[in-house]
Amino acid sequence: TGPDEADEAVRGTCEDASVCKRFAVSVGYWKDPYIQHFVRQAKERKAPEINRGYYARVHGVSYLIKAFLQKTQCNSQIVNLGAGMDTLFWRLKDENLLPRKYFEVDFPMIVARKIHNIKSKPPLSKPIMESHSGDSLLIDSHSLDSSRYSIVGADLRSSSDLEEKLRKHSLDIHLPTLLVAECVLVYMTPQQSASLLKWAASTFPVAMVINYEQVNMRDRFGQIMIENLQRRHCNLAGVELCSSLDSQRERLLGSGWDNAHAVDMMKVYSFLPQADVKRIEALEFLDEKELFEQLMQHYCICWASKDSSDLGLANIDF
Ligand code: SAM
Repeated sequence: TGPDEADEAVRGTCEDASVCKRFAVSVGYWKDPYIQHFVRQAKERKAPEINRGYYARVHGVSYLIKAFLQKTQCNSQIVNLGAGMDTLFWRLKDENLLPRKYFEVDFPMIVARKIHNIKSKPPLSKPIMESHSGDSLLIDSHSLDSSRYSIVGADLRSSSDLEEKLRKHSLDIHLPTLLVAECVLVYMTPQQSASLLKWAASTFPVAMVINYEQVNMRDRFGQIMIENLQRRHCNLAGVELCSSLDSQRERLLGSGWDNAHAVDMMKVYSFLPQADVKRIEALEFLDEKELFEQLMQHYCICWASKDSSDLGLANIDF
């Protein structure tokens, strides 16, 4: 596959992630009234372990995001890197938890699709208008900029281009900033993701980063998973380097972050509110408990912060 085809395959993963999320939502794993406006319903049922995995992913990531918003009292900004069709902006608004500004970045082609959905669906556009104040908001086919929500088309492999575009949309590097990369860094080479992480650590004096991705891919089970993913033409360039939780932490520390943490998704699952876990475990019968546990051990959430203002970001944990 050439570079364009590889990028095209990576863009396809955004559809996959959201279709899986929509399916899990339709079964009742969590509530998300917005995802239906971004992707079609899955043609086939997804396996219970996939749905549970997405439940842990969505809850684990949003748990850390909310902890950041609490520490900064929403006087902060979020930059969602490779956001795809993510609906977090709308869900945070419903919960009255919007930061000062919420940015999303993805390939221009994905951004164009997202903007098209926003423009044509009032349940998506209304919350943006409601949270907007001042002059009329700026919108064209590849970017949208309002007071609280902004989306830009950029390639994350070029930090300078990324920074320039975000600054045009009023990014304030002096505000506490949370960068989220949910299943994104793994599509870049180790050099590219390291340079993105370094850019973030050196640009924002007070910041936190959350990264969800594959880990522990070296054993036989991991090999099988990688082969399956590659068969679907995914360019999982970053898997090789980040083969363990330790190397995930080291990558963050080596990129200029302090207080790096990394936990596999089985740990995250065990930390989630047990009443809710009980509820979702009753939704679908899961035959292969062991398979589920293995699957969960091959994904992780890592996070790190740098906190010169002593907001307590270093204490954020499950
Ligand atoms: N974060 C979303 C989620 O978890 O639902 C989407 C995840 S999807 C697996 C990966 C996303 O990262 C895709 O939307 C893809 O277009 C984006 N992406 C990957 N590499 C990128 C790059 N170099 N520049 C911009 N976006 C990129």
